Amino acid sequence: MSSAPSLPFNVPLGLWLGLSNRPATSGATFEVEDPATGRVIARVADADSPDWNAALDAAVTAQQQWAAVTPRRRSEILTAVFAALSERAEQFATVMTLEMGKPLAEARGEVAYGAEYFRWFAEEAVRIPGRHGLSPTGLGRMTVTRTPVGPVLAITPWNFPLAMAARKIAPALAAGCPVLVKPAAETPLTMLLFGEVLAEVFGRYDAPDGLVSIIPTTRAAELSTELMSDPRLRKVTFTGSTPVGRQLVRQSADGLLRTSMELGGNAPFVVAEDADLDKAVDGAIFAKMRNGGEACTAANRILVHRSVVEDFTSRLVERMSSYRTGHGLQEGSTLGPIITAAQRNRIARLVDSAVQAGATVVTGGHAVDGPGYFFEPTVLTDVPPGQDILTQEIFGPVITVTPFDTLAEGVRLANNTEFGLAAYGFSESVEGASFLAQNLRAGMIGINRAAISDPAAPFGGIGQSGFGREGGVEGIEEYLDIKYLATP
Ligand code: NAD
Repeated sequence: MSSAPSLPFNVPLGLWLGLSNRPATSGATFEVEDPATGRVIARVADADSPDWNAALDAAVTAQQQWAAVTPRRRSEILTAVFAALSERAEQFATVMTLEMGKPLAEARGEVAYGAEYFRWFAEEAVRIPGRHGLSPTGLGRMTVTRTPVGPVLAITPWNFPLAMAARKIAPALAAGCPVLVKPAAETPLTMLLFGEVLAEVFGRYDAPDGLVSIIPTTRAAELSTELMSDPRLRKVTFTGSTPVGRQLVRQSADGLLRTSMELGGNAPFVVAEDADLDKAVDGAIFAKMRNGGEACTAANRILVHRSVVEDFTSRLVERMSSYRTGHGLQEGSTLGPIITAAQRNRIARLVDSAVQAGATVVTGGHAVDGPGYFFEPTVLTDVPPGQDILTQEIFGPVITVTPFDTLAEGVRLANNTEFGLAAYGFSESVEGASFLAQNLRAGMIGINRAAISDPAAPFGGIGQSGFGREGGVEGIEEYLDIKYLATP
């Protein structure tokens, strides 16, 4: 299948069954839109049940071949993927901006971040740990090794079309597992382009065909249910919303599949009385506005000590108002569109209902007239407790500011959420910073720092934000089973 004319260069539009790019067996396709214009930019293969099953057949064969490839060689192949991806960074960034909307500079950042997972796990592929010891009774020896869990289904969201898949594919391959990747239907193009990189690198290194298949579909629920009932599939790794995560965990029960769930978040951002306000405002802007607020780690609830809330809010509002909405490929755009009209309308409803309940709009507050699905950078104050905008993920450029009187109260408000992915705290004193570090409740805490994502660190949440970790030395464990060997 050839590229659509509205894409600036050729992107493979078929599904990737291992190393071959082909139409869906049914011949079906679906449309991909540019959210900044609402225009269709491509039609891609809409994989169906025979395609998913063929991908699993290929994965099972590939796993046996991959097991015979030495860790050093696997590491070299992952390093080559890192290099090939980095070389084509500009193409990846352009495709990502076109299908997802983020400004080009941010898309470039995501390519670098996503590629880094291949470099990191290339380094981990040769360090899979084990141990050996004498039993305390002295009657025998114990050897603990790790083996690949087996074929993996990786389901990813639209907000980071490359990075969310990279941090599943890289550790899975490093551990010895083949992967079936189901990209979000809103943003399949980045992964389809990535399939070309894999085909080139795998071809060059004579890696097994079928090690990675990329199988976009509009029937994710049905096909994943079917595939998860096949005993040959051993693991599901999912990044996406909490309700879908719960559904997948339920579905995993019959086959007792290993699961990793990177789910939603509703991050608090606590500014203590003694915070450096320049740093705190910079941090809040980064933590909220990275990816236009469409990030699971996005700071939605800014909690500020009452003595500095006025100063902080006026600086925040000045920075929020300076964003320029526009097509991500357009020079000077710093805020792209929301992914779909439906998501944009959901954000508008959250804001409207907070305002009806008494919240004050300090800046923004409205959807921007089309084309495209833009929403104004928005700051709300005086939001009454319990409003949906405080308890649900916003996933857009909307921030709420709430004052508190003591740091303990700030932390209590921060922890008043069912989610637990990321939390941020700013304080210049040792006491304040350590109080925040110890008492904020989340899988990832940033203290006087808002940029927390790092391929070398374990990314993941607690509570309704899920379980499992991606990145770090922990990330590869998600794809390994433990094997204990007892010997005399
Ligand atoms: P989503 O849950 O609607 O979809 C995620 C993926 O799951 C998509 O590929 C979708 O097609 C697929 N899917 C949907 N229903 C399914 C089903 N029943 N069975 C199998 N697959 C199904 O989420 P989204 O709107 O694409 O992404 C936004 C969500 O992702 C937010 O909640 C965000 O917080 C979360 N997210 C989490 C992290 C993290 O690491 N914790 C990172 C990025 C995004």
